[in-house]
Amino acid sequence: MNYNLQMRLPLSVIALLFSLNGSAQLDSVSVHPLLKQHISTLASDEFGGREPGTKGEELARNYIIKEFKAIGLSPKGENGFLQPFNFTKSLQVGPKSKLIVGTTPLSAGHAFYPLPYSANAAAKGQGIKVGYGINAPKLGHNDYTSDFLRGIDLKGKIFIIDAATPDKDGPHSKFAEFADLRSRIDTAIKYGAAGVLFYTSDKEMKEPTLNAKMRITPCAIPVLYMVRAESAILNGTAPVQMDMVAEIIKEEATGNNVMGYLDNKAATTIVIGAHYDHLGHGGDESLYRGEPAVHNGADDNASGVAGVIELARYIKEKGPKNNNYLFMAFSGEKGLIGFRTFHQKIYH
Ligand SMILES: [Zn+2]
Repeated sequence: MNYNLQMRLPLSVIALLFSLNGSAQLDSVSVHPLLKQHISTLASDEFGGREPGTKGEELARNYIIKEFKAIGLSPKGENGFLQPFNFTKSLQVGPKSKLIVGTTPLSAGHAFYPLPYSANAAAKGQGIKVGYGINAPKLGHNDYTSDFLRGIDLKGKIFIIDAATPDKDGPHSKFAEFADLRSRIDTAIKYGAAGVLFYTSDKEMKEPTLNAKMRITPCAIPVLYMVRAESAILNGTAPVQMDMVAEIIKEEATGNNVMGYLDNKAATTIVIGAHYDHLGHGGDESLYRGEPAVHNGADDNASGVAGVIELARYIKEKGPKNNNYLFMAFSGEKGLIGFRTFHQKIYH
């Protein structure tokens, strides 16, 4: 991921995020030996893909600190060179999670799971299908005013919503802008939903997951997803008695930005940074499918960090003195958590 970002800060600090992404093999091109050393170290298997909150992240930041120190930068974090931040590392299906459809209990974590939008909450009552749960006035489509729902009091019911779109056209659907599950939940709440159970009638659709990296503010009601393989139990349109509990257990963790400062006693500071974390052993963000394996991330973004380190050395030795320089290696790229932490601390 690249971030080309320039912003003006109150103290005339200019931040420039540095990125040197490329797909060339290190061996096939001529690379400065120090750049090569940084990239090879950061992207080594030993560093385990540098996932935030892991040993690999720690190894990587210690390496960067060692380099910053050797160059002669001074620490500018809250904890020496480090600027820590907390984040949600994972979301797990809690043992209290429950779904009973009619008289059939379903298996939590297999047949169904809570979605990240869900509150840790329970709902019990009549489950009723409300189509796609989409109200799209400009497309003349509102599932809640369908003939099927006419005259039915929806208040306090559990809404069973097809997470597909009416035209089953995935991301190309003309309903795409109304397809976001969170906005469908908000619509359901407006129509009186006590809980929401999503499923999908679209065989092509990628099923939603309980993914911690979505940065979602939960809503106030339980929201479950029933996996495609189990959703035959929802066939038919008759209302059905339902009992649901959503419990999500959050695993919190700490990540760290690295901040090294070159003080030229100037009025302005230039920030040069790149993210040093990567995907660890894969996961939802990875394009790789298969057994978990180290994602080395040489070009995402060990190369950018190598560039920051060597730029720091160059500027310290030969650079102009009319600015101060803050060299940063960010962690928490997904959701820009590390960068947001830095940004927030400058502005607030
Ligand atoms: Zn990236």
